Amino acid sequence: MNDVPIAMAIHGGAGVLTPGLLTTQDESDIHETLRRALDAGQQILEAGGSSLDAVEASVAVLEDSPWFNAGKGAVFTDDGRHELDAAIMRGSDRNAGAIAGVHHVRNPIRGARAVMECSEHVMLIGEGADRFLVEHQLPQVANDWYDTELRRRQWQDNRLKGGAPTLEPSEADHRGGQDDPAPGHKFGTVGAVALDRHGHVAAATSTGGITNKRYSRVGDTPLIGAGTWADDRSAAISATGHGEYFIRAAVAHDIAARMRHAGKDLEAACHEVVFQELKALGGQGGIIAVSPAGDTQLVFNTPGMYRAWRDRQGRRHTAIYAKDDRVHD
Ligand code: ASP
Repeated sequence: MNDVPIAMAIHGGAGVLTPGLLTTQDESDIHETLRRALDAGQQILEAGGSSLDAVEASVAVLEDSPWFNAGKGAVFTDDGRHELDAAIMRGSDRNAGAIAGVHHVRNPIRGARAVMECSEHVMLIGEGADRFLVEHQLPQVANDWYDTELRRRQWQDNRLKGGAPTLEPSEADHRGGQDDPAPGHKFGTVGAVALDRHGHVAAATSTGGITNKRYSRVGDTPLIGAGTWADDRSAAISATGHGEYFIRAAVAHDIAARMRHAGKDLEAACHEVVFQELKALGGQGGIIAVSPAGDTQLVFNTPGMYRAWRDRQGRRHTAIYAKDDRVHD
């Protein structure tokens, strides 16, 4: 059984992560958080557990960390609240669950799973979704529980500048402040993909969306086929980046479709979509993906992406910048 491959990768958002913006301490904290999140899923896989449990566990660790724009540390909407989006999908039967614009569930990814397992629907939104999550006894928090000082500052700064919605980085990116080479073009969504010993893949993604968003804006993250997709016949994919472009390019599904219908391998399919399809529209960001054969890809067209993965030998890697690879063990 131990010869059967398992695979796992996670991300904490892609963007302009230029070396020098983070302190060494920040970098260590982020690597450590990524490693913990990877471990949470990997331990489940190594014990023979399901890829669905693994991706949920990893994403929950990232949601609980204020470093990332999901759960605690989510960005503010224009009217000073938080609206959270998440999705989860199982490759064995393509069952999926998603929530968008929710306000009180402590771990949105667990909410998405509840929609998948406890309702006959795939996606619930807004107040109705909030009610469903209470009825199904998902742990609740006050909306300001997601606040962090830094996100509040970003929101206020952005309002002073006119309040246009912007794509937000993880907490760490903002330490760069005015030296930031491209303010706004950074992201902080979290996601995980996994392959379990039974040959099943799964994907999960969670986000606060974009800062100062208005009119109940929803991005790609909770949209099945855009930011999240899993199918045992091709791959599991979780995306991060400028959501509007990822929706228009149906990024996650397009990668899977290239594998199924055009016979591409995982690497080629991911590169074509991220560097050709998405880029042609002007979309920035990245994806993580695993295939049932045990291949893993982490591909982005930005200068960096918070990420971690397990290699075929079982070693754990974490990275922030394009040329970056910290091996743990
Ligand atoms: N894709 C997310 C959205 O547009 C943002 C991100 O990845 O950080 O809502």
